[in-house]
Amino acid sequence: MNPPVAEGMFGHPVSCCAAVRSGLAMGSRGDGVWQRVRRLIERPGTENVLRYRRVVAAAGERADVLRALSDDELTAAAERLRTTPDRPFDRDEFAEVCALGREAARRTLGETPFDVQLIGVVALLNGYVVEMATGEGKTLTGALAAAGFALQGRRVHVVSVNDYLARRDAEWMRDLYAMLGVSVGWVDQQADWADRRAAYTCDVTYVSVSEVGFDVLRDRLRTDPAEVVLPAPDVVIVDEADSVMVDEATVPLVLAGDVDRGRNEITFARLVRELTTGEHYEVDGDRRNVFLTDAGIDLVQHRLGGVDLYTDTHAELLTKVQLALHARALLHRDVDYLVRDGKVQLINVARGRVALLQRWPDGLQAAVEAKEGLAASPTGEVLDSILVQALIGRYRTVCGMSGTAVAVADQLAEFYRLKTGRVPMNVPCVRDDEPDRMYATMAQKQAAIVEYVRTVHETGRPVLLGTLSVAESELIAGMLAEAGIDGVVLNAKNDAEEAGIIARAGEFGRVTISTQMAGRGTDIRLGSVDGAGRERVAELGGLCVVGSGHYHTSRLDDQLRGRSGRQGDPGSSVFFTSMEDDVLVHLPDARRRVEAGEDGRVRSARARRAMAHAQRVAEGVHLEIHRDTWRYHNLINIQREVVLDHRHQVLTGDEAPRRLRELCSERYELLLETAGAEALSDTARAIVLYHLDRCWSEHLAYLADVREGIHLRALGRETPIDEFHRIAVAEFSEFLPEAYRRSAETFDRVEITDDGADLEALGLKRPTSTWTYLINDNPFGTPEERFRDFLGGIVRDGQSKLGMPS
Ligand code: ADP
Repeated sequence: MNPPVAEGMFGHPVSCCAAVRSGLAMGSRGDGVWQRVRRLIERPGTENVLRYRRVVAAAGERADVLRALSDDELTAAAERLRTTPDRPFDRDEFAEVCALGREAARRTLGETPFDVQLIGVVALLNGYVVEMATGEGKTLTGALAAAGFALQGRRVHVVSVNDYLARRDAEWMRDLYAMLGVSVGWVDQQADWADRRAAYTCDVTYVSVSEVGFDVLRDRLRTDPAEVVLPAPDVVIVDEADSVMVDEATVPLVLAGDVDRGRNEITFARLVRELTTGEHYEVDGDRRNVFLTDAGIDLVQHRLGGVDLYTDTHAELLTKVQLALHARALLHRDVDYLVRDGKVQLINVARGRVALLQRWPDGLQAAVEAKEGLAASPTGEVLDSILVQALIGRYRTVCGMSGTAVAVADQLAEFYRLKTGRVPMNVPCVRDDEPDRMYATMAQKQAAIVEYVRTVHETGRPVLLGTLSVAESELIAGMLAEAGIDGVVLNAKNDAEEAGIIARAGEFGRVTISTQMAGRGTDIRLGSVDGAGRERVAELGGLCVVGSGHYHTSRLDDQLRGRSGRQGDPGSSVFFTSMEDDVLVHLPDARRRVEAGEDGRVRSARARRAMAHAQRVAEGVHLEIHRDTWRYHNLINIQREVVLDHRHQVLTGDEAPRRLRELCSERYELLLETAGAEALSDTARAIVLYHLDRCWSEHLAYLADVREGIHLRALGRETPIDEFHRIAVAEFSEFLPEAYRRSAETFDRVEITDDGADLEALGLKRPTSTWTYLINDNPFGTPEERFRDFLGGIVRDGQSKLGMPS
């Protein structure tokens, strides 16, 4: 697949792209033809953002006038543009905000936004996800759009992939915003309540996806409206939009409390430690699935007290055994996780680095901890959770930017009803993307990579080697060291450090070995960071990017390539692949019958096509999983909205005393007399909020359990999702009645003294501490994936459990 960065606006070769770009200055000439051609060749879901070039041209005409203004006059001009959300900008005002933004950027950052950047700004202001190649200056584009929204009276969150980038970008753009009279703040993990509150009251707030998600969750549990930190969601500009909105869309952000109700996953973890591979369980050739053998089933059933695991009633037990076995057999230390300071730290597969905030679901986490002989980390109770997709979906206006968005335009349309458009490059890309070099075995591939890096390095050209995993980075770094090449290995460090190292990857003679996403968001300049030595490196051919294999989506490949060749720099990229690569898991047949040369090199076109096909299959599998997961969560979301709505009425109104008066009139009158109306209302409110939150947490836990076992329950009857809906809707119909039944019970027993009511004495304890995390359920997939694997195992074993034909 061709990398979009090497193409023009509509996937044309670069020469054609130049023609389109010159159209920037041509005004409307040839529009009709273009419109028709565009419809023929655009990807579904993409739209032409070049139509905004006229707005940008109009901004250009204002440049001289604005240049003559003093700084204060410029700020005053921006102030005059301010409007309210009910009267959004017209075309002239869009042009004026671009012109003001350009002039302010020139004065405060010393960078004059290019026309293409301003096209991006107008597209963002019109609710697009824009694709702009790496190095085209998305940070500035996003900031000008944020200022444009703010001047229309909107409140903007610029959402980034990590805390480091949120802070860096807010500080970088601070003076620009100041000159436009727009206030800006940022939030990171360390921010306390007051910092957050202050940052969120700014016109524009930079924040990572996880932090804003955690704030949403915490706000939902407030018992005092004055403690809420987030204003109503309005505009979000999502940086690295495809990564956040597609790749991480189904990652749940979780708020848990320390109500430890005791869990027995540890038992299962211990149980599977007794099992031996070959005898009790078998692992698939591709090491993605693990199955109990008959002997294994017998042993487990015996240990569990003689149950029959394969009956409906024991679906839950079976799931837990499967989880524990997955932890035991399929999760590998240093590949999937590290053990550090007595803790299990996950390695995020997509980013190939330690994901500090992440943990697996409790069962698996406990299983891995038990496997490593570590103390079990505290298990809490999930108080609430939200998927990244639902988090983004809360905003009234969503837009975003990315180096690779067009490839997922249809998904952005499907899941977010968003339009996507590609902004052409300022300077055409001249990077040389070489065809893959394919090898029969992994070992031959690695040897070839080392040899290739050695020859390039001899010339002094900087090399950036992108690997698929932390373990692989270390392996190849070791091999390079043996060949006398000292590379800088970059993984599992913190974001700020990574950024510093990646920024230097373009220096003469430098070899940087990094997992795909390490140092994301950081620009690699040729020569040193301050630009010295640029010519020397450019003459050698610029940055040489080497990929050690294809990722599960071509977008990640393209992002790696995009590290080289920014703003017309010379550069090259090449991927080394092997017939043993992971991505071929999806196409096992492709591994057979490959003809290789003596050095292991595979030159067959068929093998090459198989590799590309496998990647598309992988992308399709991810999409299906995304759809499945979303279907389940969407229903829960709808129910959550109902509960939140009601909770809001309780929190801010007199719903609680009103309802309790109906339910317990005698008690109500008595307390009214003894305690007075205000104390009574406060107590009623606190009681109802407590029970609403408790019931919600229980409802979530119940639905999570149902979902884990839904495929087994639904087997042979309805489709799992329908069955899930049926159960969830039935259960939810009892939600409010149950919450009020419990509230009435408490209300009947509560005493109100001068100090208020002591609810703790009645057993109404809110968690004393809460913590937040992201769940990573990639290692063995969602319940749907696991079920597919599980069925696959049964069919493969030739067994006919659960009445399935073998
Ligand atoms: P991206 O996120 O699109 O890869 P960045 O926002 O990190 O790009 O910007 C890349 C580099 O380009 C930064 O060093 C930035 O200062 C510079 N830059 C952005 N816009 C301009 C401009 N209009 N003129 C000159 N330099 C620019």
